[in-house]
Amino acid sequence: MSAVSLTKIVKRFGEYTAVHPMSLDIAQGSFITLLGPSGCGKTTTLRMIAGLLDPSEGEIAINGRRVNDVPIHKRNLGLVFQNYALFPHKTVAENVAFGLNYRNVGKEEARRKVAAALDLVQLPDVGGRYPKQLSGGQQQRIALARAIVIEPDVLLLDEPLSALDANLREDMRVELKRIQQRIGVTTIFVTHDQTEALAMSDQIIVMSEGRVEQVGAPEAVYNTPATEFVAQFLGASNILPAQCTTVSGNELALELPDFPRFAIPRERGPDISQSGPVRLVIRAEKLHLMPAGTSADGILSVAATVENVDYQGQSARYFLRVGDQHLQAINMIEDHPFTTGAQVVLRFRAKDCAALPLE
Ligand code: ADP
Ligand code: MG
Repeated sequence: MSAVSLTKIVKRFGEYTAVHPMSLDIAQGSFITLLGPSGCGKTTTLRMIAGLLDPSEGEIAINGRRVNDVPIHKRNLGLVFQNYALFPHKTVAENVAFGLNYRNVGKEEARRKVAAALDLVQLPDVGGRYPKQLSGGQQQRIALARAIVIEPDVLLLDEPLSALDANLREDMRVELKRIQQRIGVTTIFVTHDQTEALAMSDQIIVMSEGRVEQVGAPEAVYNTPATEFVAQFLGASNILPAQCTTVSGNELALELPDFPRFAIPRERGPDISQSGPVRLVIRAEKLHLMPAGTSADGILSVAATVENVDYQGQSARYFLRVGDQHLQAINMIEDHPFTTGAQVVLRFRAKDCAALPLE
């Protein structure tokens, strides 16, 4: 039985449709992420699951039980939002105990559960303090402790890390995942940050303009984007017009202006069924710059000119021209620091390319 199951849920605000029919089954104990740019409907979807918003259409089930008419406090969910929302005039322990007070948990048992939750978020000694005496990261851990102390069926997290600064955010990412695995709670995480989604999720649901673009494991959505939107949103991709000349059982043969002919594995273009115009997708970090004249020894290569370099510390983003086409590459800066005007060879592997049908 799915932990959460959405069947064709829709949300309209007046004339505007924020979420188009969306269906989804979320496995017990999994960590799934709704990923997409601001305004794509992530929070709206989460709020419908939480019971903070009524869907305009469709059904929501939690552990097999239809919950459309079940109010929020009877859905047994843990909620954490971006801005911790702790009660300022309650102590940390009172904050964490809040959800237990509704559940007829005895005083002694409540104290034990609060202590265990504070242990789990690695803040065992702050129960007597007030939220404003804690750092942002600590407050967010308390918000998490408050959400999990009730042993929720599902944990709903709406951009819980985005108010934290970059280093702390990375630490909390690891921490949150550790806690989720430890207690095994089904978790729905919302973020617009693709690195967060890739690092934490069992499954990613990529959304755009109220629709699901792709559902899959991080490697799958990253390596085999189903749409141009997914290819661009999960890191920088080059998308080039190409001709598919032959479709065979295990390969797609491709032709691009100024490139050598090459073939990609069949599974890298699952939606291509016949020869004709297609779009070739290759990620910026899969194009490797080498000095002009470097021999190709079996690896695909194409001559390019460096038009611009965006230095990023460990790596650089190169703006390149191949014939009339503009491409981007992101490379670690190792032995070959290329500068504007340099003639280079771009090396890439066929298995790192994907093909999409024309839209
Ligand atoms: P996200 O969380 O992905 O940034 P939201 O789910 O908050 O996006 O919003 C999706 C769209 O629905 C946005 O265009 C937003 O302006 C709109 N929207 C959200 N809530 C309301 C509301 N209460 N009334 C009208 N429009 C809303
Ligand atoms: Mg949001």
